[in-house]
Parts: sequence; structure tokens; C-alpha cells
Amino acid sequence: MAATAIEDYANFIQYQLSAHGHQAYLVGGCVRDKLLNRPAKDFDVVTSALPDQIVGLFPNSGLVGAHFGVVLVRQGDLQVEVATFRSDGPYLDGRRPQNVHLGASLEADAHRRDFTINALYLDSQTGKILDPTGGQQDLQLRLIRAIGNPEDRFSEDHLRMLRAVRFAAELDFTIEPQTLVAIQNLAPRIRDVAAERIRIELERALPAGGAALFQESGLAAALGLNPTFHAKTSHIAVHWAALLRNHPDGAFFDVLKIPNRDRAWAQALAANADRTGFQDQAEHKRLARQPWYPLLSELTGRDLGTYPASELWPKPLLTGADLQQLGIPPGPQYKQILQDLETAQLNGEITTKEDALKFAIGTTFHEAAGPRQANSQE
Ligand code: ATP
Ligand code: MG
Repeated sequence: MAATAIEDYANFIQYQLSAHGHQAYLVGGCVRDKLLNRPAKDFDVVTSALPDQIVGLFPNSGLVGAHFGVVLVRQGDLQVEVATFRSDGPYLDGRRPQNVHLGASLEADAHRRDFTINALYLDSQTGKILDPTGGQQDLQLRLIRAIGNPEDRFSEDHLRMLRAVRFAAELDFTIEPQTLVAIQNLAPRIRDVAAERIRIELERALPAGGAALFQESGLAAALGLNPTFHAKTSHIAVHWAALLRNHPDGAFFDVLKIPNRDRAWAQALAANADRTGFQDQAEHKRLARQPWYPLLSELTGRDLGTYPASELWPKPLLTGADLQQLGIPPGPQYKQILQDLETAQLNGEITTKEDALKFAIGTTFHEAAGPRQANSQE
């Protein structure tokens, strides 16, 4: 795979730091993904240089989390997080360390990371990999293994439990048995993690096929969720729809702070999941126009079929101007006439402008004379 600009830039930063006498490596997901031949989401560099030394070398950088020893080095659209080797102080709240110690050794830096496959250090100049925790072997074995004592590591930071499930799903790895047992034992503590962080992990884990593991880990039950839909999907809304069918009150939408668009899609998908047919082509086409429609077959396993775009979105036969020319007084009935006309068009009943004009005259005449008009004015 050809190196991308961001990868080149991360490598450049690493060389520069090395050339100035610091230890410097690519680390974390980008190394793991490179060894797995997967595209990396982001690139992280770690170095023995202290934050002010990093800033000194890369003037175009900002101290994002200076107290965490992280510097954001930027060039145009490119940005790379450059962190100083660190070790973590005690974790008191299940979220973050009370303090961090900068200027730790590479080994100490590795041991504060979550999983062995995430603690690989690459010198991209030489291709040499440093692997203080056995991450390369676990990559071979396709295992998510906590570094050190899993209970301790998950007690420190409860989010790591969900990260384990997410990595296992995304990489199609297994959670190493002792690591899984620790998660099962500590699962109730996931409730202390901020809702958004839980949701962000689920948005990656569930479409990747992680629902079964989410359940097996005990994390789903701890959150009051029963995710029985285990398939991989192209969109999280399919999973929210499936969950909605198991939890019809939909309370999890608020609990997990699910964005409005995903909610709306999930509700529409769930509402149409038992559908087997349509009253007419127009109804089918209007449904097939919805952006979530292709997901319905992922949810139900049944393909209801669709139509070519030209049939879903035929050019309207008439406009409001045409109705005005017919002498129909402008008003709210325009919308209704045009919609009824579109229904007839979608059903293939009307195909020409001439027939459309007749249809429009017919409806208005009928409406003016018939009882429907009188009722609708009540
Ligand atoms: P991806 O970017 O694909 O989500 P990643 O492994 O790069 O995966 P990031 O969240 O980008 O994950 O974090 C970068 C690295 O920082 C991780 O590989 C890991 O070494 C470390 N890390 C991140 N979050 C934690 C955590 N909660 N506990 C311990 N180490 C962590
Ligand atoms: Mg990353």
C-alpha cells in the first residue's frame, strides 16, 4: 500500500525527533494496523522529547494536553499527535489517571497502554519494532490481551472493557480468556463511563459484528441492553432499530445520547421491519426513496426490491404554474393535487402532461362538487 500524506508526515516527525537525539517511534493503532495491512485511522508518535522540546522542533504545533504530555503537530490539513513517554499515576475515578509522569521509559510507556497489540513501537526509518509486551505474538494469535493484570487495568479505566469488544469486532480477533473473564467480572462498572464514549465505541463495535461479544462480555446486560441482532451491517441505525424492537420504550436513545438522525432512521426501520408488501407501487417507491431504505433488508434479511432512480424520482408532469393556468385558485389544495398526481404517476397510471392536466381538472371539479370539500372545511 502506498504511503499516504499523513503517514509520510508522521514518519517525517519521527525522523526529525530521532535526528535531534530523541527516541521516537510510531505507536499504537497505526503500527498495529500496518502489521495487519489495514488502513490506520490516525497516526501517533511517541518520543522521549519533552513537550517544549517537541514544540521547539515543530513551531507549527499546539500543546493540546500539555499536562498529559501531548503535542498536536500540524501542517496544513495534516495533524499528528506527538506524546512524550509517560507513566500514569493512580486512577481514582475509573476514567483517567490522577496525574501522569513525563519522561518515563519506553517500557513504562508501553505498560500504561491498554492491549498488547496497541503497544508496538515502530521506527519507520529502520523498520525495527519494539514490543515490550508481546504484541506481535498476539497479533499472530489474533488476540486482544490486556497488558498486565486485566482486573487491575479495567478497574483503572472502565472504558477499556468496551474498547476490547470494539477491537475484537473490528479486527475479527478473540478476547484472550483471562481478559474476557475480567471484563465479565467488572462489567457493571461500565455504567460509570460517559454515555457518549459508550455510544462511540458501540457505533464501531456493532456494525463490525460485535453484538454477540457485547452480550457475552456482560457489558450489554450491565447497560440494560439486549442486543440479539448480531450480524455485521453497513450502518449503526440497523442495530438501534433491532434494539428498539427488543426495548420498545426506546429509553436507550436518550441514555446513550443517540443523534437525531440515527434515531429517526432506527424508528423508521423498526416501524417497517414487519412489512411484507405495499398497497401500491407509489407507496413502495416513496419508501424506497428514503435514505434508510437499503438498510431495511439488512435488518430483516429480506430484500423488498427497489426501482431505478428515474422511476423513484420521475420528473413532475405539472407544476403550480400549470395549475394556475388551468384557473385553479392557488391555495393548500395545490400541494394535494400535485401529490395525488405524483401518486398516479408513480403507479404508472398517468404518463403524459396531457393526462396530468385532465387529472388536475378532474380532481378540482370533483372536489368542488363533491362532499369531500365540504367535510374538509369543517
Ligand atoms: P483506532 O485509532 O483504530 O481507534 P488506536 O489503537 O489507535 O485505535 P486510539 O484511541 O487512537 O486507539 O489510541 C491510541 C493508543 O493509545 C492506543 O493504541 C493505546 O496504546 C493507547 N490508548 C488509547 N486509549 C487507551 C486507554 N483507555 N487505556 C490505555 N491506553 C489507551
Ligand atoms: Mg488511533
